[in-house]
Amino acid sequence: MVRQRRTAFMSFCRAGGELSLTAKTEEEFRRLLLEAVSRHNVLPLTSFCNLNCLFCSHRRVSPELHLHTFTPLAEAQLLELIPFLDVTEKIVIGESATRFCEGEPFTHPSILTLLFSLRARFPRTPMQITTNGTMLNQKTVKALQKLAGETPRGESLLELVISLNCSDAAARREILGDREPQRVIEAL
Ligand code: SF4
Repeated sequence: MVRQRRTAFMSFCRAGGELSLTAKTEEEFRRLLLEAVSRHNVLPLTSFCNLNCLFCSHRRVSPELHLHTFTPLAEAQLLELIPFLDVTEKIVIGESATRFCEGEPFTHPSILTLLFSLRARFPRTPMQITTNGTMLNQKTVKALQKLAGETPRGESLLELVISLNCSDAAARREILGDREPQRVIEAL
């Protein structure tokens, strides 16, 4: 089993695919991706964010930290990563908790497809999604409710962490670079 997993790990590392903007080689990027998934149960989607917060930690990343930014991963590549997640641990999306700079996950064009695939494979595993909330709308919220799942005690298996930071429209424009500040307020 360990050998099988190692072989899968190596072949994933060597295969071609999406690009990191900062990893030196494609192989290095894929190795880091697998590390994030298999060691931390974090599924990286994209470094792109639709806001531009003055305090964003991604603006001042020291090169010594060796953090990586990357273009949105292709749906096929994300589906390929899913089997490396641990069913017994919470799956984390949108949290900069590894060597990757995570952007806004709902800017990823395939996020709902991906979440439904995750839920189909891990029906009882808790999931956490961190978002700035700006892309949430009725359709997305309904889809999230549908795929959330619950524990035998009726608790939701989906934790949506909304990083609002401030609710004042003018402050959102100035501090977060939010051109449509009403969106997130309406979504909430
Ligand atoms: S929402 Fe988060 S990731 Fe996006 S710019 Fe603001 S702090 Fe950075």
